[in-house]
Amino acid sequence: MTQGLHGKLQEKVIAMTVRNQVDLRHHNIRALQRTLLYEGPTGRRALGLLTNLVPSAITSLSRELLARGVVSEVEAATNVKRTSAGRPPVLLQLNNASYVAVAAEIGVRFVRLGLIGLLGEPLHTEFHEIPEGESPQNVIALVRGYINRQQTHCKTEGLEMMGIGVSIPASVNPETGSITEPGGVHWQGVNFKAAFNEITSPVYAENNVNLMAMGEKWYGRGRLVKSMVFVHHGPSWGCGIVLADTGLVRGIGFGAGEIACSTVMPGGPLCTCGKRGCLQALLHSEFLTQRYRAFGGSGALPVDSTALIERRAVDPAAERTLQEALGYLGIALGNLVRILEPELLVLNGRPLLTADSVQSHLTAAIRSVVAPRRLYTSVKRSSFGAHQALIGCAASVFQDTVF
Ligand SMILES: [Zn+2]
Repeated sequence: MTQGLHGKLQEKVIAMTVRNQVDLRHHNIRALQRTLLYEGPTGRRALGLLTNLVPSAITSLSRELLARGVVSEVEAATNVKRTSAGRPPVLLQLNNASYVAVAAEIGVRFVRLGLIGLLGEPLHTEFHEIPEGESPQNVIALVRGYINRQQTHCKTEGLEMMGIGVSIPASVNPETGSITEPGGVHWQGVNFKAAFNEITSPVYAENNVNLMAMGEKWYGRGRLVKSMVFVHHGPSWGCGIVLADTGLVRGIGFGAGEIACSTVMPGGPLCTCGKRGCLQALLHSEFLTQRYRAFGGSGALPVDSTALIERRAVDPAAERTLQEALGYLGIALGNLVRILEPELLVLNGRPLLTADSVQSHLTAAIRSVVAPRRLYTSVKRSSFGAHQALIGCAASVFQDTVF
């Protein structure tokens, strides 16, 4: 009896030890993969220094990653100083076509789909226009069809699918995969996790701009900074906040960063939300047209911010309307910077945020809100254009499963 109990205890201890060793190995592999993502091609000795792993561990883990096709060996460029005479040092680098993620960006009038590799480079993308108000069932069927096709493709090509990231233009609870507050789509009650879990897992459902920010943080300009605010201007406005040690800030109701309805002018123009003076109401074409008229504009109506940018050089009323609009935008962005003081502010989407010709004015508007404090935050444009959300979908998958 005692011996039996003792035996069982011993088995349990052995099982726990094995599990700890497996966990430790898994942890070390992730550290290695993460280091290769951040550093790019790296030699084994440098990897040891960067990860604090002993040479025998680096040898063993890199052998496993080579065998699985996750990394490959490359010779260092000839301008790199050689460690010894003769052979150039061999570096390890991550292979983009190894682990892959399906990315699905659901928009108000479109669905963009992609198969994204480990380095955040798309292996395949496609774009579908959908009618506004399309049923969630049809959109889900479209995405499921894509997942099925990519699963077959991955089997043929020897790629390992790690999951799917789903981008939704609304407040989303990523734990449940459901919309908490309507945004661009009004699909309360639809559970995106459940919708795709049957055919692939894990499933990461998240607000679109939060995912865009994740893409920038893992694969773009955010890689080397600790804190970043990412602002997007599409059909609506959004903002993703990533802080040091905290990661993505979602808010208690998953609405953190909802810059669109931040009040910029009390008593200002009426917004679709029912309040007055929201940022998106001040930058809406209806209000811009009203201001353009007030400034004596005589060009074609209505105007939106893109038209104002195009006309500003030849149309003084367009220039004045635009300057006023950039001032409002500067208030919203400047307040964000003043409160959070991130290392980096990334601008993405339509020309009002990203055109070359508005950058200096916009930065000056932000600086004037932050003053008299110096503007420590760098202001940059985003990295991935139309694929920003897709790269973010992949980042959310790899962050949890690979890195
Ligand atoms: Zn509003």
